[in-house]
Amino acid sequence: MLVDCHCHLSFPDFSLDLETLLRELKDKFYALIESSVNLDNTQKALETFSNYDFFYFSLGFHPHYAQEFNKEVLKKYADLINQNKKIVAIGEIGLDIKSKVSLDKQKEVFLEFLDLAFQFQLPVVIHNRGFKESILGFLQEKKIKKVVLHCFSQDLDFLEVAVKKNYFLSFSGNITYKNARFLRECVKKAPSELILSETDSPFLAPQIIRGKKNNPLYVGEVIKEIALLKDREVEDIEEAVLKNAKEVFRI
Ligand SMILES: [Zn+2]
Repeated sequence: MLVDCHCHLSFPDFSLDLETLLRELKDKFYALIESSVNLDNTQKALETFSNYDFFYFSLGFHPHYAQEFNKEVLKKYADLINQNKKIVAIGEIGLDIKSKVSLDKQKEVFLEFLDLAFQFQLPVVIHNRGFKESILGFLQEKKIKKVVLHCFSQDLDFLEVAVKKNYFLSFSGNITYKNARFLRECVKKAPSELILSETDSPFLAPQIIRGKKNNPLYVGEVIKEIALLKDREVEDIEEAVLKNAKEVFRI
């Protein structure tokens, strides 16, 4: 059975073909972790997918939306977590060098959500673009132990630090890109007990459909690439990822 540890099926990109897609996903997936990016999106995701057995939720606040944040959001999220057992993580949260929101504001929001994760003892799903040192520092400061590095796209040095801390490395379709030579070195070195698979749908379509809308069915391409790079059977990687996802998200 497959796992997509990070997708956004509640985005408008899927509004037209959602039902057909869900029918296709049902038999193939043990779990999909739907990751939200702000309060509206969180509410929409929970409303749309709570009745599907194989959906789980990671509540986040993406750095692109940090300006919308206020303390009320934390209270709402805490209430939702108390009511819904299928909320299994906090994220995506993090820092993004391309966000139009000031870095101070992004940091404020990130730290608030790390506190929320600590309070509920939930794993965090990290979005990082350009701030690996700060992010590692904040995770340490806030004593966050269970960490998923969403769309792992960093270098071997960062991989080494992450592995020492037992952070999970969630690989996505970009490991299949022609120019992803360095990233593929990271996949080779990533210990099997820390790897996860994700699509980040509708984004990051793998090479075979690059430029088109991605969907969770293409998580198979990510698993195939990991297996190839590690010289392992596809089934072994599928099994490892499933085991790891069950462990980190307690699903
Ligand atoms: Zn995402």
